[in-house]
Amino acid sequence: MKHVILGNGPAGVVAAEALRAQDKDCEILMVGCEGLPPYSRMAIPYLLEENIDEHGTYLRKKKGHFEALRIDQKNARAASVDATKKMVHFADNSVESYDRLLIATGSHPVRPPIPGLDLPQVQNCWTLEDARAIAKLTKPGSRVVQLGAGFIGCIIMEALAKRGVELTVVEMGDRMVPRMMTPKAGGMIKQWVEEKGIRVRTEAKVEKIEPVGAAPAAQQESSGFFSKLVNTLTGGGSKEAPSAPAAHEGPVSVTLSTGEVLEVDVVIVAAGVKPNIDFLEGTGVKVEGGVIVDAGMRTNVADIYAAGDVAAGLDFFTGEPMVSAIQPNAADQARVAAVNMTGGNTELPGVLAINVLDTLGLISTSFGQWWGDEDGDSVELVEESKYRYISLQFKGDVLIGATSIGRTDHVGALRGLIQGRQELGEWKQRLMENPAAFYEAYIAVTQPTALARNVA
Ligand SMILES: Cc1cc2nc3c(=O)[nH]c(=O)nc-3n(C[C@H](O)[C@H](O)[C@H](O)COP(=O)(O)OP(=O)(O)OC[C@H]3O[C@@H](n4cnc5c(N)ncnc54)[C@H](O)[C@@H]3O)c2cc1C
Repeated sequence: MKHVILGNGPAGVVAAEALRAQDKDCEILMVGCEGLPPYSRMAIPYLLEENIDEHGTYLRKKKGHFEALRIDQKNARAASVDATKKMVHFADNSVESYDRLLIATGSHPVRPPIPGLDLPQVQNCWTLEDARAIAKLTKPGSRVVQLGAGFIGCIIMEALAKRGVELTVVEMGDRMVPRMMTPKAGGMIKQWVEEKGIRVRTEAKVEKIEPVGAAPAAQQESSGFFSKLVNTLTGGGSKEAPSAPAAHEGPVSVTLSTGEVLEVDVVIVAAGVKPNIDFLEGTGVKVEGGVIVDAGMRTNVADIYAAGDVAAGLDFFTGEPMVSAIQPNAADQARVAAVNMTGGNTELPGVLAINVLDTLGLISTSFGQWWGDEDGDSVELVEESKYRYISLQFKGDVLIGATSIGRTDHVGALRGLIQGRQELGEWKQRLMENPAAFYEAYIAVTQPTALARNVA
């Protein structure tokens, strides 16, 4: 039995190890395409903060770890899959056959169509290579604009702030982390971040990025034309020919939709991601925001599985496809995929949104259907000056979602209530009156005797 795993991030690595644990005789090939040992993207902020070196980002640090487990590795980009012949074709023209294939290729950053986005001062923050470039470009005092204040954007923002840069964050949404936080909570995070000295522009878009003080476009074009002309006249390659204008490396001006123009040294793009699925074209594998998988991580095509950021599992509540792009989810899905790839039969209960964010020391969380249900009830407790907040969302007497800020004690109880689909009974009304009593509610409905003992 030959298992091919496309992707050597957390999903790929956990799957490879789990496959070996399940079957000591199978052949395992794990493929990455960045020419680097398997590493963790979530360690990149620590690298930028200089808390760790590159080796610290590696998922497995022991030399010979994969060899000892007889996990073969290959560095090549999957270009296409022939699901009928069970073959993967790679960009370097090599081919691998498979009996079972796992898609664990993660995602890549979206590049919004903004003029100037290809300037050398503009950088993603997704790969180790990006991190190396950012480390070179940013020094204490560098002026930086960051596009996007989502979950990953907030993590990057913190790392940049710790590098001592002068930072402005531009977010299209009406608040920070709009796809993870309620309007009130996103607003409180914005206020916190601004108090720490970071400028935040919400409901604003970057419209264009232009070099400051570079030769105007017409002049650049004519010198390009001149250099081409001299090359033509001299048969090309003449050392004397005026070279094309060097990439402009000075500051750039960033124009916002609000009319504001910012002069900065670096622009960091954190404007969302898309799954790496181009190579699946023509396979018939169903894709909807990610590779659609059932609870056992099987795609709709026989012997092809998917896990991690590339996979859209079924939402815990709605049963709709949902990508949960966090590392623990990648690992859970990879384990389940591996068991099923080796003939087992196991399932995940459904993807539950679990977001925990530390923004410059302010902890925020959201769980489940934190945005609520139109037929449900909700309650919000706001303690703005203390940076404490809680919002609970109910359907009937079941807690389906929650958002919190500034609460580190017992927030796991919120997750427990949601994941356990606990019927709250009389506790629903008590929580509507005092949402902060969620821990007592959790104890009361999950361990009624414990509460009775405590009360006694
Ligand atoms: C800056 C940053 C901070 C983060 N912080 C956190 C955090 O605090 N907590 C958290 O839970 N998550 C965090 N994440 C998200 C987390 O890193 C991802 O959820 C996790 O990496 C997903 O793992 P994966 O294996 O599915 O995908 P990836 O880690 O993206 O790995 C996919 C692999 O597939 C390879 N690949 C892609 N295309 C091909 C191809 N065609 N052929 C062969 N190989 C291919 C890629 O090179 C890559 O190595 C962070 C991410 C970033 C970028």
